[in-house]
Amino acid sequence: MSDKSHLNLGFEEAQAAFESPSQSARVWTEGWAARELYCPACGADQLATYPNNAPVADLFCGSCHEDYELKSQKTKIGAKILDGAWGTMLQRLASQSNPSLFVMRYDRERRAVSDLIVIPKHFFTADLIEKRKPLAPTARRAGWVGCNILLAKVPDSGRIRIVQGGEVAEREKVLAKWRKTAFLRETGAKGRGWLVEIMGQIEALGRVDFTIEDAYGFAPALSALYPDNRHVREKIRQQLQVLRDQGWLEFVGRGRYRLTP
Ligand SMILES: [Zn+2]
Repeated sequence: MSDKSHLNLGFEEAQAAFESPSQSARVWTEGWAARELYCPACGADQLATYPNNAPVADLFCGSCHEDYELKSQKTKIGAKILDGAWGTMLQRLASQSNPSLFVMRYDRERRAVSDLIVIPKHFFTADLIEKRKPLAPTARRAGWVGCNILLAKVPDSGRIRIVQGGEVAEREKVLAKWRKTAFLRETGAKGRGWLVEIMGQIEALGRVDFTIEDAYGFAPALSALYPDNRHVREKIRQQLQVLRDQGWLEFVGRGRYRLTP
């Protein structure tokens, strides 16, 4: 078994004459992922690539069968990223067949990876998908509706950094961070929406310790998201119990909570 705790961040593809810069970038980044990257879900040493333009995903793990989409850009990883067809995305979310998402920033001059995060598919909820305007009637695919993934809405727990500013994260830490939230997969789409939202709100407090009063402070935001729910405070308490049962946080007594390391 090779030790991939030290990923080689450089692209090694021969400089074939690709038709366009975006095409060559695609060849570099996918080639890099297939050669260097391990599976952040199960730790298998290698990921395989799907044939080009496969509708399913870009990469998959032969051991745990996780599917991955790889989005690459030259610019800083921002608040949102352009993805495929909006309708297809919603269908795949509903059937939980959407892939997990790698977002890469690469350095074109150095031909190397600068940043890479992975968002496990269990963090994807409909709230994260933004519908784009249909393409103009003059466009080649007139009327086609794409979507953006709102990366800024993914809680920190769901943004797993594999490479940051050219520094490679320890593989064990990456795997542990993935495992810590894998319980979300067992939760239905609606329940997952609540959990992910509350996890994000707790992280936004910026503290390891917090109280039930802090958590009740999320009620207005949650009521706005789930206007049909008349028992938001109860629901918050219930979600905190789920997060405790799953080991994401602990109760330290008398309405006080602590995030597990
Ligand atoms: Zn795997």
